[in-house]
Amino acid sequence: MKPILVDTHAHLGHQAFAGELPAVLVRAWEAGLGWVLNVADDMVSAAAGAQLAAREPRLFASVGVHPHQARTWKEETREELAVLLRCPKVVAVGETGLDYHYGFSKPAVQRQVFREHLKLAKEHSLPVIIHAREADGDLLEILSTFAPLEGVVHCFWSSADIARRYLDLGLYLGVGGAVTFRNSGALRETLRELPLERLLLETDAPYLTPHPYRGRRNEPAMVSLVAIALAELFAIDPEEVRRCTSRNAARLFKVDQSLFC
Ligand SMILES: [Zn+2]
Repeated sequence: MKPILVDTHAHLGHQAFAGELPAVLVRAWEAGLGWVLNVADDMVSAAAGAQLAAREPRLFASVGVHPHQARTWKEETREELAVLLRCPKVVAVGETGLDYHYGFSKPAVQRQVFREHLKLAKEHSLPVIIHAREADGDLLEILSTFAPLEGVVHCFWSSADIARRYLDLGLYLGVGGAVTFRNSGALRETLRELPLERLLLETDAPYLTPHPYRGRRNEPAMVSLVAIALAELFAIDPEEVRRCTSRNAARLFKVDQSLFC
């Protein structure tokens, strides 16, 4: 039997999946996924994700407020997140981080809300799921003040130097559909030098659909294409990529995946 695949980053609460989630999940299990981590981007998707994970054995949840939504953070948000973080199938804090590209929330607000997430992650001994866009310097500075910390920089797409600095902090790096894009040669060169033991597979569904399906909605089943691309990059068997990255995911998120093999 093939080793399982894990999608460590999907937004199943996105409206792109409305009414279609049962079929999407059937396709995921048929594609060989063992489990999926459903990642929230606001308090509505956080509460819904925790509820869904309680019902679906192979779904886990991460709860947090995306940096785009940082401006929606209120005084009571912290306690609301703390309540959700006590649910047994909630295994991570996030998606949080910094995004200076779009600037949907002011940088200072994003930094403050990011720190709140890191405090929660520490208090609950949970890993954190980090979004980074044009903000690696500030992210590294804030993260270093919270070290040691467990987590993943999802959809990693920076230089080899930045990759090493995240790895030095003990973080994992998430690899998604971008590794399959025709214009991502530099990213592939960077990833090739990194240890497979520190990489996680993800889709970021419904976004970042792998080649050759770009332009269509992404979904967890397509993580198999990311595994194949990574295997080509490392010149190893795709089964080795599955085995290693699913083990990495289970270790970081403390999921007993013997239940899903
Ligand atoms: Zn995401």
